[in-house]
Amino acid sequence: MSADIHVAAMTPVFPGSVDAAGQLATLGIMGGGQLGRMFVHAAQRLGYFTAVLEPDAQSPAGQVSHYHIQTDYNDPAGLAQLAQLCQAITTEFENVPAQALQTLALTRPVAPGAAVVGIAQNRIEEKAHFTACADVSGVSCAPYAVIETLAHLQAVQDERADLLPGILKTARMGYDGKGQVRVKTAVELAAAWAELGSVACVLEKMLPLTAECSVLVARGWDGRVVSFAPQRNVHVDGILAVTHAYEGNMLSALANSARDAAVSIAHHLGYVGVLCVEFFVVDDGSEHGGLVVNEMAPRPHNSGHYTLDACDVSQFDLQVHAMAGLPLPPPRQHSPAIMLNLLGEVWFDADGQLQEPDWYSVLSLPETHLHLYGKLRARPGRKMGHLTITGPDIASVKTVARRAAGLLGLPGLEAI
Ligand code: ATP
Ligand code: MG
Repeated sequence: MSADIHVAAMTPVFPGSVDAAGQLATLGIMGGGQLGRMFVHAAQRLGYFTAVLEPDAQSPAGQVSHYHIQTDYNDPAGLAQLAQLCQAITTEFENVPAQALQTLALTRPVAPGAAVVGIAQNRIEEKAHFTACADVSGVSCAPYAVIETLAHLQAVQDERADLLPGILKTARMGYDGKGQVRVKTAVELAAAWAELGSVACVLEKMLPLTAECSVLVARGWDGRVVSFAPQRNVHVDGILAVTHAYEGNMLSALANSARDAAVSIAHHLGYVGVLCVEFFVVDDGSEHGGLVVNEMAPRPHNSGHYTLDACDVSQFDLQVHAMAGLPLPPPRQHSPAIMLNLLGEVWFDADGQLQEPDWYSVLSLPETHLHLYGKLRARPGRKMGHLTITGPDIASVKTVARRAAGLLGLPGLEAI
């Protein structure tokens, strides 16, 4: 697909419209996690009914949606019910079976479509896509090799020693640093591939990162695009810990290149919906470092949660607008912001006993916006919620963020 092929404009699904059967316009989503929950909130605020397809009885999005269809993602009856209830359908996570999206697309507009979600589900295809549009986007991915056979392993040893030390990543189902092993030698690589079950993988060269950032883009059925300024992200143990969203969070030349690259990647895919593209800033010997594209998520992203409190239009608002064929308003950030992820650790004290976080103190700090996802049980590493700090200026946002992080024992803010 190329930039000049636009999907035909769909007939908008207007909020509040009532069909012949007396049913209010309903938007559907595959998956019931926190991203689905925040999508539901945004859709309902506009006046839509919502339907969530999610196998778990208790889910963040299922709790708040008008309809919860509790079936597997590829259950024909569940999919038929979702299509029957909804005028347009989206997804909240990339590992929903692409086949299910294809089935839904037979009768309903589905955005993003099965083909692009399929690309984002597979690092091999994703990297091939990034490589295919590197000339237009101006940004390449990290040097890598596909590892699917013993012969591929041998080939790395013989011809691609430049990829070591590297990170072996499973092609499918990786998230929050799972399905990844860091390897220094060919022997370690062979052991890591066996440890990952000898499934299809990519071996990526370990790059000297100086920073990480991401860009959120929304593209409509008519090919129009709006985007947010890049966020700078800090990961701890492979999981996003902190997002810095304010003017000067990174060098403006790099920020502009990242934004342009993300937009051209979305165009090149013929994408419809909200897309997040993650980038590395690497020390390439140049004065300011270079940009490398890491991966993309075919949906709103954890690094865009600050948009709920710091922008006039959030990433979830844009997801709703894009899928429903409504105009895409260019978002405006009205406050600098820092987002702190709240993982399950916050609910445990130093002795491993469950504790209630000190919300009273946290919420006594100015401009702290707490979002909890309705998960009943905290587990280490589990995303339970996030806290966004906004403020009149960057210095006060940083000060409050440090104090909130201190109260909750959160990592990742040491550098500011
Ligand atoms: P998520 O889906 O949660 O963003 P993931 O499990 O898909 O994460 P990646 O984004 O590929 O994993 O990697 C997780 C983190 O590991 C990155 O944010 C980065 O900090 C580090 N990392 C990944 N690849 C490289 C690399 N080639 N060089 C250096 N660091 C890397
Ligand atoms: Mg990532």
